[in-house]
Amino acid sequence: MRIGILAVQGAFAEHEKVLEQLNIPYIELRKAEDLDTPYDGLIFPGGESTVQGKLLKELGMFDKIHAQLLDGMPVLATCAGMILLASSLDNDTHHYFGTLPISVKRNAYGRQLGSFHTISECKGLGDIPMTFIRAPYVSSVDDSVDVLSVVDSHIVAVQYENQLAMSFHPELDDDLRIHQRFLELVQNHAS
Ligand code: GLN
Repeated sequence: MRIGILAVQGAFAEHEKVLEQLNIPYIELRKAEDLDTPYDGLIFPGGESTVQGKLLKELGMFDKIHAQLLDGMPVLATCAGMILLASSLDNDTHHYFGTLPISVKRNAYGRQLGSFHTISECKGLGDIPMTFIRAPYVSSVDDSVDVLSVVDSHIVAVQYENQLAMSFHPELDDDLRIHQRFLELVQNHAS
């Protein structure tokens, strides 16, 4: 198994550290040629979705990754990554992959209030630590989407088919369960 981590901008190094702890090989996806190295799952890190989306297009990476997502490649998307997957954004005219049928509100807690830490339940995993940084939340979901976590009456984690997305940053806390859940998806998809 090998994971492709989107590394054009944002907090990709923290995801790499988690995969190192789990002994899972990964490659950084920085340019179009990197997409030719085979990998079994994708990680979209947090960062700035507008910058990531722009770079993906400028670097000629967007279409190939889009095709992989449409083909069912498992993806773990955190924060800005979730914005890239969302089928619609409430407060932004940008549109990126659109493979995850949810609406997302960017910077939903306000720029100042957007950073906080809490412990809350994630379906199937129990209580997990959650670090939010200028976080979006999910404002609505299609019926086919599994809501995994709700914090203060806002949806903050979802799963749809092989796409696992959350408002918070599991890579910043000392808890590996979200990544392990993603790796199970990758394992099931590969076998
Ligand atoms: N506010 C960022 C955006 O809209 C997301 C923040 C994050 O990834 N920590 O892209």
